Amino acid sequence: MRQKIVAGNWKMNLDYAEGLALFTEVAELIKTDITGSQQAIVCSPFIHLQSLAQLAKGSLAIGAQNAHQADAGAYTGEVSAKMIASIGVKYVILGHSERRQYFGETNELLAKKTDAVLKHGLKPIFCIGETLQEREAGDHFDVIKAQLVEGVFHLDAAQFAELVIAYEPVWAIGTGVTASAEQAQEIHAFIRKEIAAKYDQPVADNITILYGGSCNPKNAPELFAKADIDGGLIGGASLKARDFVDILKVFNS
Ligand code: PEP
Repeated sequence: MRQKIVAGNWKMNLDYAEGLALFTEVAELIKTDITGSQQAIVCSPFIHLQSLAQLAKGSLAIGAQNAHQADAGAYTGEVSAKMIASIGVKYVILGHSERRQYFGETNELLAKKTDAVLKHGLKPIFCIGETLQEREAGDHFDVIKAQLVEGVFHLDAAQFAELVIAYEPVWAIGTGVTASAEQAQEIHAFIRKEIAAKYDQPVADNITILYGGSCNPKNAPELFAKADIDGGLIGGASLKARDFVDILKVFNS
């Protein structure tokens, strides 16, 4: 059975006190509402990470939203995977479309960041997905394959097994437009097929693949019911404790 995961991406939102308050509310709701073995992950800005990592336990883990590929050095303003690992954080989002778009992160750079994150025992949540223009041109399968091949297919099977993949069509992020459950399933199945071809079927069968893009408590049940969708990467709805935990509840036993 693949691990079911719902990861919240707070992006650049919430000051320190607001972040702690939201996390506390999420943790309380999880205690009362969650009955399954699903994993919740909160990916906060750097300023919250250390405090949240001290509060997090069991089925609630913490992730960063980025990491630099070098361990240390003259990279003003950056934070390394080594530093993130030193405070008990478990996951790092890599390759989010906002980082690709606004910070020029390429597949080549993301391959290095993935290596750094794995080297320090952290788990990458590796994001891939096509733009609207790419989908309309019929290039979405090629784009996604290239993101996999150039970003993570240099890993050996044991390293690859540490990854969580997140399929996030760029046109669905923060837009209120969700991919239909069928559209998402089609891509998730394609991703799993490519992983099976590169590694083997057990590696493909065991890897968690999340859907992200305007996911909310209303559309999550239909999306998560699909065979190859193992949970979600949640932006806007993760800023409301009730909504985030309601999405997690879809996996209640
Ligand atoms: C995201 O940023 O990863 C995301 C999926 O955002 P939203 O849920 O707001 O579309």
